Amino acid sequence: MPKLPGIDHEKCMSCTDALADKKPVGNRVVVVGGGLVDCEMALEYLQEGKRVAIVEALDHILSAGAPIPLQNVQMLKDAFEYYHADIWESCRITEVNDQGAVIADKDGARTVLEADTVVMSVGFRPLPSMKEALENLNIDVYQIGDGREVGSIMSAVWEAYEVAHSI
Ligand SMILES: Cc1cc2nc3c(=O)[nH]c(=O)nc-3n(C[C@H](O)[C@H](O)[C@H](O)COP(=O)(O)OP(=O)(O)OC[C@H]3O[C@@H](n4cnc5c(N)ncnc54)[C@H](O)[C@@H]3O)c2cc1C
Repeated sequence: MPKLPGIDHEKCMSCTDALADKKPVGNRVVVVGGGLVDCEMALEYLQEGKRVAIVEALDHILSAGAPIPLQNVQMLKDAFEYYHADIWESCRITEVNDQGAVIADKDGARTVLEADTVVMSVGFRPLPSMKEALENLNIDVYQIGDGREVGSIMSAVWEAYEVAHSI
């Protein structure tokens, strides 16, 4: 979770908490982050009839991280057009407050996106806790998958294959 004013506001939640249904998501949702997880969540909210805004710091949604299959990208973009998603590219969230999310564009111009819920989904970091837990056991430990670098199921399986092949 990024450190910004209002990050502890009751309207604000992480995408993993939202996915785990830890708190209800309101009818006006701002999804902060325009990656694959975030856009898929946004689509689900749109299909539930919610009003959704997506805020992405980069110039285009679905452009960060590992390449996303074109079919997924096109399907999501078509769906966002169909459901009239409100997409804010090249914008960063600066604050969460009682009104919703305050965002700023590249020139610093501010816009308030009124919202009941602000879902923060700005990426994941590796948590190498399993490697740390195994390190003192005097066995060979190979770190793969999200514990090494956040990726996908395919990259984790591929790394496992490469390690197994090299032993
Ligand atoms: C919301 C979301 C949606 C995603 N959607 C997709 C998708 O559509 N397609 C795709 O390819 N990828 C997707 N990913 C990414 C994918 O889930 C991960 O890249 C993949 O699961 C990584 O596999 P892993 O085995 O490295 O880690 P994980 O799947 O995270 O497994 C690690 C396991 O180790 C456990 N663990 C950690 N530390 C310890 C410890 N000390 N002792 C014991 N157990 C421990 C954890 O609890 C966890 O169960 C998504 C990720 C998220 C968060």
